[in-house]
Amino acid sequence: GIVLGQRNQESEIEKMDKQYVWHSMKPYNPDATMVIEKAKGVWITDHTGKKYLDAMAGLWCVNVGYGRQELAEAAYDQLNQLAYYPLTQSHKPAIKLAEKLNEMLGEEYVIFFSNSGSEANEVAFKIARQYHQQNGEHARYKFISRYRAYHGNTAASLAATGQAQRKYKYEPLAAGFVHVAPPDMYRMKEEADKPVQLNSVKAVDHAMTWELSDTVAGVIMEPIITGGGVLIPHQDYMKGVSEVCEKHGALLIVDEVICGFGRTGETFGYMNYGVKPDMITMAKGITSAYLPLSATAVKREIYEAFMGSEEYDYFRHVNTFGGNPAACALALKNLEIMEKENLFERSKEVGNRLLSDLQGLLREHPFVGDVRGKGLLIGIELVSDKETKEPLEVGLVNEVISICKKNGLIIGKNGTTVAGYNNVITLSPPLTIEKEDIEFLIKTLVEAFQEITSGD
Ligand code: PMP
Repeated sequence: GIVLGQRNQESEIEKMDKQYVWHSMKPYNPDATMVIEKAKGVWITDHTGKKYLDAMAGLWCVNVGYGRQELAEAAYDQLNQLAYYPLTQSHKPAIKLAEKLNEMLGEEYVIFFSNSGSEANEVAFKIARQYHQQNGEHARYKFISRYRAYHGNTAASLAATGQAQRKYKYEPLAAGFVHVAPPDMYRMKEEADKPVQLNSVKAVDHAMTWELSDTVAGVIMEPIITGGGVLIPHQDYMKGVSEVCEKHGALLIVDEVICGFGRTGETFGYMNYGVKPDMITMAKGITSAYLPLSATAVKREIYEAFMGSEEYDYFRHVNTFGGNPAACALALKNLEIMEKENLFERSKEVGNRLLSDLQGLLREHPFVGDVRGKGLLIGIELVSDKETKEPLEVGLVNEVISICKKNGLIIGKNGTTVAGYNNVITLSPPLTIEKEDIEFLIKTLVEAFQEITSGD
């Protein structure tokens, strides 16, 4: 047998991994890629039998936790009944899921299915551009998004992404994307009293004007920038951006790929902020990532504009796999579980408690600049100097992560490597996380922080 935490030799499967599999990210320690074999609840197990609490729910997505047999069965039954038919026609699982999403969002949305968050955003951009064209506004092609935000890996969703280090090797990407400063309540605190939120709303307003607002098709935003460092905006920020959109005739596209399905303690993240988006993109939590599926929810009046026109009578976007019947059937079961177990409410309660516990335990730590969050979405911003807010060097951030990993806890690291701002530890566990696992999470994390300052 293998002794936990004492592996020195690379196993056969790890050698094969290195030989054949091209991974999407550089691991913190290239010799320590985990080969995950199974998972249950919030715990994942690697091929050596070592267990880890997955406080990132994969990539912020396994909202109902791992190993739900009901989800496997829903997919299995549907695969036997009808494994595939394209949504150029229709099938019941897609229809029922669209109805369910419609119920969750409010009646006024129609659903377009794809496979990934990136695709859902591409769909939103294409619909926005065509919509304006159909209204005779042919010049409206630009999109405004925020620096630090992540919106996906494809030509337009990566163009929308506001993290230059992910983009510069692949440019030119899709044209027409303009970036503005994000609402960063921690780093702009000096301004916060003359509210920063107004400055970041003004940034959107000014960009509209300077770009000529009748060339702007829309604004894309996450309710809370997640991958860019969990930036919780001022309560009025989103409303402000929404009003700016309305003033300039631009559509508000809300990326709920991470914030959706209870992550922030509401059904969708935007519901924290009292706005009504024109489009809503979702993925990840829609199936708790058990199968690939994404959706673009579109205001009915936008949809109807496509129906009444002679010139552009349909949306020219075919997707072979989008809305796969098994993925839709599984998604429906997933949403049923979320409802039955009251997971959105739970995310709010458990998240609030976890946040205040971590604030209490970590605030005094010399490297902890800010502990912030909403629901079960938490960011801990690390600095080397609390006065200047100099970001903590990435080596030390990685050390916290490595210590946690050694002790059986997977946490995330986000922000942006531009100017060294890769200094936010992130937590986004399954919404089902239980009390004793939260205690383990807190204890392991706090000990890791103690270890990096104790010098041993
Ligand atoms: N938008 C956001 C906010 C995301 O976090 C992600 C993925 N991390 C995407 C879009 C893209 O989703 P996918 O990886 O499924 O294409």
